[in-house]
Parts: sequence; structure tokens; C-alpha cells
Amino acid sequence: MKGKGIFLGLSAISLFVLVFMAIFLWYLVAPRLAQIHIGFPLLVGFAMALFALLVSLGLVLILVSTATERNLLFPGEYQLTVKVLFPIAVAVGKMLGISKDTVKRSFIQVNNGLVRSLRGKIDSRRVLLLLPHCLQNYTCIYKITATMENCRRCGQCVVGDLAKLAEKYGVVVSMATGGTLARRVIVETKPTAIVGVACETDLTSGIQDAYPIPVLGVLNRRPYGPCRNTTVDLMRVEEALRFFHNSRPLRAHKEEYRSEVHKSSAQHEGDESGLEENREFNKGQD
Ligand code: SF4
Repeated sequence: MKGKGIFLGLSAISLFVLVFMAIFLWYLVAPRLAQIHIGFPLLVGFAMALFALLVSLGLVLILVSTATERNLLFPGEYQLTVKVLFPIAVAVGKMLGISKDTVKRSFIQVNNGLVRSLRGKIDSRRVLLLLPHCLQNYTCIYKITATMENCRRCGQCVVGDLAKLAEKYGVVVSMATGGTLARRVIVETKPTAIVGVACETDLTSGIQDAYPIPVLGVLNRRPYGPCRNTTVDLMRVEEALRFFHNSRPLRAHKEEYRSEVHKSSAQHEGDESGLEENREFNKGQD
């Protein structure tokens, strides 16, 4: 099993174990249920089977959604994946001897697939590019945690190139020295979508903490070990920024257009022909 398959496989194993435990429990309590009413064991068994079927279907939909990047999820199923399935998959993976980082990498891939499946439904007007401090060259004297504008873009690390990417796509960029500061940045900047760069641990906890804000996660590279002089594949970061840039929903465009039209109307107050044009434009948008 590779990539997304590890997380989905572990989730399927968890489901299988839970169903087996439920059947065993039903077998134990069925005689007592029959004492209440003869048809009661059958009714409870049917309800449990229906629940197991729905959960199995949900897992299949997660699989298909991540593979095809089309949103086929039940309402609330993305939340279930992020908040419930992930901790179970880590626990089952531990029992099977699969490292936490392997499960986390797989979870990040599944999460990214699910976020991509929401294309066109994401409000991406305020995108935050959130970076870890370890990307900065360890010997650099400029303090960029306060503001990335202090970076001289000398080429000694990827920070300068990431700042250029943020400019190109018109997104807010911020650097955090840890999870607490990252959460504070999210509260202060109020993003509607996030591109996060970090290690497996910080990305998985960040994705969970930021929910329901959609996060596309890009893993950093650690040629000198963790937490010092790390780097990142700029093409992957740009691909994630481009996704949010292109997936801006029509509604957002519409509001911007309306705002522009409103400004234009104010400038040409009294000009009946201009107002008429704007009215026609608004009609076309509705
Ligand atoms: S690009 Fe240069 S100035 Fe900017 S953070 Fe890296 S080393 Fe410092």
C-alpha cells in the first residue's frame, strides 16, 4: 500500500474490526433483547447492519472522491475524516507497526485530495500561505517572523522565492515558529483557505486545528535533519496556490464585479447611459 492507500486501508481495517465487535456484542445481547420482544434482536441487528453499510459507503466515497477529485461526500464526511478517522488510523497503524509519519503523510494526501474535490465550492478570496520558521537559512540575520518584507531575497534559502510566489498570487504570507503561533496567525488573518508548508506532525495537527478552513498541505524537505535549514518544492507550493486561485467560486467573482460596478456607478452619478449599462450588466450576472 502506498500514498493515500495507507490511510484508507487502515480506515477500512478499523471499520472491519468495529463491525466484527458490533456483531459479537449483538450475539451476546440478542437473548436478553428477545426477552423484551421476540422481534427486537432482528430490529437491532438490522439497524446495526444499516449503520455499518452507511459507514462502508462513506469510506468508498472518500476513496472515490480523493481518486477522482470530485466531491461525492455526505455532508459532514470531510469533518469525520479529519477529526475521527485520522486518530483511529494512527492507533491501528501503530498496532500493525506502521510509523506515525507514514500514516500522517498518507492522511495529508487524502486531505489534499478531498480539498481538491471541493473545487468551485471553496471561498478562496483570502488565501494564507503559512510557512515554518525552519525554512529560513539558519545564519540569516534578518528577522522575518515579524514580517516577510524583511527578507532581502538573497537566494540563500527558499523564503525569498516563496515571498515572490505570494506576491504573484496576491495571498497573505506568514511565518510561524510553532503550532501556537500558527493558530494565532490564522485567528488574526481570518483566511478562507490555507496553503500550509510544514513537517508531517505540524501539518496534520494544523489541518485538524484549522478545520473547517480547507488546507492544502505541502511537506517540507529536511536535508539537514528536522527543524533547521529545511526547504520545500516550490512547484508544489505554486500548484496549491494556483488551485485556490483557479477554484474561486463564481459567487466571489460576482460580488467583486458588483462592487466594481457600484464604484463605477458612483463615479458616473447622473450619467443615465452609464447606469443603464450597469443595470444590464447586473441582470446578466443574476
Ligand atoms: S532569502 Fe536570504 S534574506 Fe531571505 S530569509 Fe533567506 S537567507 Fe534571509
